[in-house]
Amino acid sequence: MFCPNCGSEVSEKAVVCIKCGVALQPGGSTVGRIMPKTWLTESILVTIFCCLPFGIAGIVNAANVSSRFNAGDLDGANMASQQAGKWTKVSFWVGLSGILLYIIFVVFIVGIGSFAALAGW
Ligand SMILES: [Zn+2]
Repeated sequence: MFCPNCGSEVSEKAVVCIKCGVALQPGGSTVGRIMPKTWLTESILVTIFCCLPFGIAGIVNAANVSSRFNAGDLDGANMASQQAGKWTKVSFWVGLSGILLYIIFVVFIVGIGSFAALAGW
């Protein structure tokens, strides 16, 4: 087949023209472009280690990044990437503050316990 843009002969399976780089097939427009950060690894990690609901929202958006990117929807992929990043950070901070509160709580209880022991209660 021939490139509709520059007219050079290209392979039937080519997704972009090797001469001018124009997209030849649906979805080909994103070939060679960089996929936005998916946050998939990060969102899975925060789902496992801290908060399931926020982490799931991150994973869903992370999956959308690659599916939209592969469909040629670069704007949608960028938007999903932002959402995935947002939810991943939210769950990270919620999880972190949960852990910190737990540590403070434990220290507080242990502190009361040792104070009580010292005071001879
Ligand atoms: Zn061309």
